[in-house]
Amino acid sequence: MREPESIAMKEDERMIPVWSIIAAILAFLLVEYYWWIVAPAQRHHPAPPLGLRLYFDLSWGLLAALYFLMVGYVSKDAPRRAMSTRFWMVICLVMPGGIGAVFYFLLRQPEVSRCPACGTHVQSDFHFCPQCNYQLTANCGNCFRTVRPTDQFCTQCGHELAVDHTPARLRVLGE
Ligand SMILES: [Zn+2]
Ligand SMILES: [Zn+2]
Repeated sequence: MREPESIAMKEDERMIPVWSIIAAILAFLLVEYYWWIVAPAQRHHPAPPLGLRLYFDLSWGLLAALYFLMVGYVSKDAPRRAMSTRFWMVICLVMPGGIGAVFYFLLRQPEVSRCPACGTHVQSDFHFCPQCNYQLTANCGNCFRTVRPTDQFCTQCGHELAVDHTPARLRVLGE
């Protein structure tokens, strides 16, 4: 099924920006460097078994990489939800152990896109633009619940959708 925002959001590029991928790779390499070059030189006890070291080294490296991918994702996701990008990126960076990201996912707002007709910010659950009455999603003319553009009858009330005179562009989307 098509997401309603795909109608409005044609410029939907990659959700993980390049800089955060580079930062993630650097963070991973830095952790590797610390574990294999710096840490053994400072160790005074016999080294733990190689399997254990490999396990800890890889999991810490991946965790550090994930941290930067997370911040990159937030930098792309927050604007789509009309949330303060800078504020949430700082929160995700300074809160230890990824707690900032947890807060972000708990508190994030519904996705916002733009009305294709007039450019007003609209939420993904809107059926009509509040400013110009442009129909954003197909909906039943009887109970006004969202329907798929391909449906012949409303799944909620059984209303025959063909008699609602669906706008031509929604009919085209359903094909
Ligand atoms: Zn509009
Ligand atoms: Zn209905």
